[in-house]
This record gives sequence, structure tokens and C-alpha cells, in this order.
Amino acid sequence: MSRIFSGIQPSGELHIGNYLGAVKNWAELQRSYESFFCIVDYHAITIPYEPEDLRVRTREMMVSLLAAGLDPSRSTIFVQSMVPEHTELAWIFNSVTPLGELERQTQYKDKASRMESVPAGILNYPILQAADILLYRADLVPVGEDQVQHLELSREIARRWNARFGDGFFPEPQAKLTPARRIMGLDGNAKMSKSMGNTVGLLEPPESIWEKLRPAVTDPARVRRTDPGTPEVCNIYQLHRGFSTPETVEHVAAQCRSAGWGCIDCKKTLAASIETELVPIRRRASELAERPSDVEDALASGATRCRRIARETIDAVRERMGF
Ligand code: SF4
Repeated sequence: MSRIFSGIQPSGELHIGNYLGAVKNWAELQRSYESFFCIVDYHAITIPYEPEDLRVRTREMMVSLLAAGLDPSRSTIFVQSMVPEHTELAWIFNSVTPLGELERQTQYKDKASRMESVPAGILNYPILQAADILLYRADLVPVGEDQVQHLELSREIARRWNARFGDGFFPEPQAKLTPARRIMGLDGNAKMSKSMGNTVGLLEPPESIWEKLRPAVTDPARVRRTDPGTPEVCNIYQLHRGFSTPETVEHVAAQCRSAGWGCIDCKKTLAASIETELVPIRRRASELAERPSDVEDALASGATRCRRIARETIDAVRERMGF
């Protein structure tokens, strides 16, 4: 069975953007692949943060992942800092990664351009990502388009290390492009993200979700109820594609194009679809709140399994490198 690895930032409760963009797909993949899902808290410290806040956000993310359908009996779910070999391998990979490759990364240039003083961790971030993946010698990495360049660097690092120390030891991980679309924030201005304050939480109550959906941006060409719209340019339609049945999605497109209904009708239908999907997720989250030991157990068993595999990889790496 092929092995997949993917990571997510410890940003607290999941929102519907990272649910549709990644985690819903992971819940499917865990049925067909040997799966490792990592909460990447070492990555999270490359920007300013509060230690207690990080602890809370990490735990909330774990609860969200379990509630959203990741199943510890099918996949290994763990927190990166519980497996220190990630940073050991990252240091080793520092020695085979050309500085120029790091400086060429679009995400680095983008982040660094907005910082007065750039921590080295921002530059070296993709090396730690390569270590995350290669520590488990994963074959596949589910990624969005924006991560393809980093994955290519992981492949380059595997090639360089293999050429120097161990022919074919590390597989070159392949991208498994996430089918989900890019979910914009409800303000229509940017990708949905906590830092932009434009998210809908996965565990939010329906009234609060409706408060956000009702004024959400739609196709700007639909000024009046009688104006036909173009569903493809509307974020509400993208959300329908994530949450509604194929028949409803078709109905939405037809009603939009013919001005058969207004945007509020469309949003009410979306709210109902979201509710259908979120009811079992909320129920699992409240069960986990009643039995916090389930979360602790899942974290501990994930970390134990990862440490064993990580140790085997590191032992082989050390042997080949002359330590
Ligand atoms: S009818 Fe629906 S898809 Fe069309 S513009 Fe309005 S909200 Fe968007």
C-alpha cells in the first residue's frame, strides 16, 4: 500500500476552507493509503506566537481533525514536535540543499517581502517540510497547487542526499493534487484564512454561520434579483460544490444563470447543505469534549508509531553518513 504524508498548521479549530481544501480529502484517502497526518507545530514557530496559545491551538486542531473524520484506527495522526527526528533530519538536509533553491521559493519571497527582519526558519521552512515527508519515506503528498514548488524541492533534496549517501534510499515523493478548489473568504477578497478574519468555523453553530453567509460577496454582476449571474465566479457556488449534492449544484448553476432565484435563496440552500455535513462533525466534537482521554490516546499512539518509523530512518541515515 502506498504511503501518504500531509501536514497542517496548528491554527486551532478547522474552518470550512481548510476542511474542503484538505481534510475532507484526507478522510477519503485514509481508506486507500497508509496515511500520516501531522500537525506541524515546529513550522508554526517561524512567526511570532504565544506558547500557551500554541498549546491550545494544537489541541483544538487535533479535536477538529478527529471530528472531521480522521480515524486513528486507519491513519496515524500526530504532532510534529512529539517526534524530534523531524528536526534532526532537517539539519542533515541543510547540508545538501543549495541556498539559491531556497531563495527562489515563491512563498519565501512573498513572506520575506512583508518582514522587516526575516528569521532563518522562514528560509529553511521547505527543508523541514522535506524532512517531514522523507522521514516516513512517503510516496505521495496530497497538496494544493500552491505547495507544488515546495514538493519539487523535497524531491530535489531526496535526489541530492541519495546521490551522495544512499542510492534510492529516499523515494522521490510525488504530488497528489487535492481535487478541492481554492475557497475564498466570505468577504471575497482573499483565500479563507484565520489571519484574514474571513472564515467559517467547522464547529460554529448554524445561526452564526448564517450571520456570515447572508452578507457574503456573490457575483458582482448580479446587482438586481433579475440579473442573470455566472456561478463560476461566485464563491457561494464554490461552497455549493464542496457541500451540496451534484443535483443541487446543477440546480444552483441553472437558477443562477437564468436569474430563477435570488442570492439569498441560493445561500439558504447552501446553509442547509452545510448543516447536513456539519451535524455529525459537531456531534463527534462534543463526544470528544466529554472524553478528552480519546484525544490524548490518539496523540500518544500516533507519536509512538511515528517515533519508531522515524528512528529507523534516522538510524539508517546516520549509518550511511558516518556518524
Ligand atoms: S445565485 Fe448563487 S451562485 Fe449565483 S451569484 Fe447568487 S449566490 Fe452566487
